[in-house]
Amino acid sequence: MHGLDRKMRSGQQAENAMIYSLMESMVRQRLRDKKGQVYCADCLAQDLQQDPTEVRAAMDALAPRQNFSAGPCPCGQTGLTLRW
Ligand SMILES: [Zn+2]
Repeated sequence: MHGLDRKMRSGQQAENAMIYSLMESMVRQRLRDKKGQVYCADCLAQDLQQDPTEVRAAMDALAPRQNFSAGPCPCGQTGLTLRW
């Protein structure tokens, strides 16, 4: 019984990690497609039709790993753009 319980829990964790990295790759892909254009989390979330909280988390997670630079989003908020 305990073994099954543990198995289900680790399966759930793997699923969450997969959703998270899928969001990261969607964000990265969009910023790559729109190279040079600044996106804030809200506009990117709207563009991708995703939850802004998750998009922001993905941007935060990606920022230290990607060549992002901050800039002004057309909506007036501070956003990120991919730099090459
Ligand atoms: Zn914006």
